[in-house]
Amino acid sequence: MFDSLTSKFSKAFSSLRAKGRIKAGDIDEIVEEIRTSLIESDVALSVVEDFVSKISTRSREQLDEVNKSINPSQAIFTIVNEELVALLGGSARRIRYAKRPPTVILLTGLQGAGKTTLAAKLAHHLKKEGNTPLLVASDLQRPNAVTQLQKLGESLNIPVFAPEPGNGVGNAVKVAEAGVAFARDKFHNVVIVDTAGRLGVDEELMKEVSKIRDAVSPDEILFVLDAMVGQDAVRTAEAFNNGVGFDGVVLTKLDGDARGGAALSVVATTGKPIFFASVGEKMEDFELFYPERIASRILGLGDVATLAEQAQRAMESTDAGATARLEKKFADGEDFTLTDFLGQLEAMKKMGSMSKMLSMLPGMPGVGNIKKQLENFDDGELVRTQAIIHSMTPAEREDPKLLNGSRRARIAKGSGRAVSEINNLVDRFLQAQKMMRQMRNGGPGIPGMPSMAGLPGAPKGGGKNQPPKKKSRSGNPAKRALQEG
Ligand code: GDP
Repeated sequence: MFDSLTSKFSKAFSSLRAKGRIKAGDIDEIVEEIRTSLIESDVALSVVEDFVSKISTRSREQLDEVNKSINPSQAIFTIVNEELVALLGGSARRIRYAKRPPTVILLTGLQGAGKTTLAAKLAHHLKKEGNTPLLVASDLQRPNAVTQLQKLGESLNIPVFAPEPGNGVGNAVKVAEAGVAFARDKFHNVVIVDTAGRLGVDEELMKEVSKIRDAVSPDEILFVLDAMVGQDAVRTAEAFNNGVGFDGVVLTKLDGDARGGAALSVVATTGKPIFFASVGEKMEDFELFYPERIASRILGLGDVATLAEQAQRAMESTDAGATARLEKKFADGEDFTLTDFLGQLEAMKKMGSMSKMLSMLPGMPGVGNIKKQLENFDDGELVRTQAIIHSMTPAEREDPKLLNGSRRARIAKGSGRAVSEINNLVDRFLQAQKMMRQMRNGGPGIPGMPSMAGLPGAPKGGGKNQPPKKKSRSGNPAKRALQEG
């Protein structure tokens, strides 16, 4: 998310940091670099000009104060951060629930923007918060949109109201109306209505969505915007804002190599806040949009708050008993087994994809090494390793010495992997086990922290009790073994 913008900003600030006192010319220089970075990232020109002029004016007005501060470049950085937060909408805005349920949320946007996917993700999120959402499939334009929503609803155990074949098919307004009536009848407190889009903005589309809007009187209309579309985003957003009107924006596909300009332009051009961000195709790839956190990510400060929340969720869903057992084992001097290893892998998986977490780590000097380690991490490897361990018997997991040739061949067949991969895993595991023993005997690392799996727990390698290794490694033995593969 915003990777190219982040690297441009950090380059601009590193030259400013090298300066002690800041002169007016230095401000002009950084403002120019910010202007170029934003334009190259597809931020709308009028938005860029307004933004840089605010930074320039404030920095000049405060120049004396800035130079009195201990760290003048940091003071400029703070001004940029504050303006970026304001550009992204200031404070976070959330769904406003209707006084009398159900709360009706209408999704609008172009075809392919990610509305149907978002409808399901939003329902999933609201359900986790204790709501009883109903999804309504009113996108009757795109072939498969109805079945796509039905499948997603089924996988999440969330009911979907869809037109019955031969009964009102083709009339999206009737489906939406009937869906909301159904929700009221069945006491669903939230209804999410998915609507049709078109490939481009057109009159007919605006008319259809407006008719649905008038029929269901939504409490919130959310405009779903594909962040990858660049400059077009502003035009599309303005067309929907004028044609249908909306209360807030959802940015999708922020996981792509989007230059991020859409996100930065849309609040300023429509005056509407961003509610949520969609960062992938999976149902969990959904984030509440916090302007301060996003500004932090853009400025290379990372998003430790979101990272901590994900870690917290992973911990809550991790088998606390397994963690306690592992800690006790460690304290009692017992060996770390493949069962424990599997538990750690599962905890790591729950923390989400390493590459996504990576984007939330601060890009400050010093953590670069950790970032590099994580960048080399292959999430697919985790799944393959799990499959292999799952094919072992409990006895084999407790005592890998049982794993003779014929057992290894059986496991390879069961997990669909090559025998060499089984050999490799067992070797790496034995090394990890050895490492755990060494840590217990006073080596480096934070032992027994499976609940923090995925976070760079222990200091990097190099302790004198460790076997010599080429690369620096993570403190999590499971991750470490995978990395060394
Ligand atoms: P709709 O036409 O607006 O309903 O769009 P869909 O929900 O069908 O999404 C269009 C495509 O984009 C599908 O292939 C989705 O899987 C994909 N998609 C949706 N949201 C995201 C996202 O946040 N990231 C990525 N990478 N793909 C997404």
